[in-house]
This record gives sequence, C-alpha cells and structure tokens, in this order.
Amino acid sequence: MATERVARELGGLLRGIHHVAIATTSLAEARKTYEGALDMRALPIEFVPDQKVNVLVLFTGGQRVELVEPVGADSPITNFLAKRGPGIHHIAWRVEDLLAAIAKLKGAGLQMIHDSPRPGSHGTKIAFVHPKATGGVLMELVEDPNWAAH
Ligand code: ZN
Repeated sequence: MATERVARELGGLLRGIHHVAIATTSLAEARKTYEGALDMRALPIEFVPDQKVNVLVLFTGGQRVELVEPVGADSPITNFLAKRGPGIHHIAWRVEDLLAAIAKLKGAGLQMIHDSPRPGSHGTKIAFVHPKATGGVLMELVEDPNWAAH
C-alpha cells in the first residue's frame, strides 16, 4: 500500500497497536466476560509452544485483545501471575519488517528479550523488548501477514 510505503520511507518503525495482552489463570473463565458481557468476537484458542501459552484472540471495533493463559510451570506467564496476578501483560506494536525493527531497536541501544523473530499465534512473527528498556512496560513487536484480513 502506498501509505505504508511512504511511512516506511520516512523511517517510521511502528504501525500502531497490534494488540493488548491480558494474562489470566483461566481462558475458560475469562472468555465468558469478553465474549459475554463485552460481546467480543473470538478466534479459536491456539497453543503457542514457543511461549508456552494458550492464546485467545478477541476483536471489537477493529481492535484486538489477546488473553494469554500459561501452559506449564515454566511458562513466562506462570511467573507473571505469581508475581503480579492477572492483568495487563504487554502491549504489542505492529511492524512491517520484524528483522529491521529488531535491528533498529538494538542499534538504538534497547535491550531485547528476543534478538531474532519467534513464532507467535496465528502466523505472526514476534519479538519482545525488555521492560528495562521501556520504563517497565513489556512490549512486543509483531509482524502479521494476515493483518489486512482483520
Ligand atoms: Zn502479544
């Protein structure tokens, strides 16, 4: 798209928020609220082995929320829930080119959790930025080949 190309040529890195992720102990329980009272539309639950989580993607008004539930004691979400309890886990930014985005952030001296793309849910590629680099907020970069389908 021409707009994307212009933004890229201007050096813009981010393409807005891809999703906000919420950690929960039980997708089955949490989804009742999101699909019930909040009337959000859900994709089928997907297990993401690389992150050891089950993910439930929800949509409303063109925006995307992801509920994440740990699978196993060694899931990063297990630690998060133990320390902080259920709640907002990370903000994910959409990027056109994840490799370029990682290189740019590393070049700017930001500490990454992932130095190379990892497999996310629903065909995405992801990388997390260390919260020490972002004022305590866990941020994820997402390259999503299916974004236009939303
Ligand atoms: Zn995420």
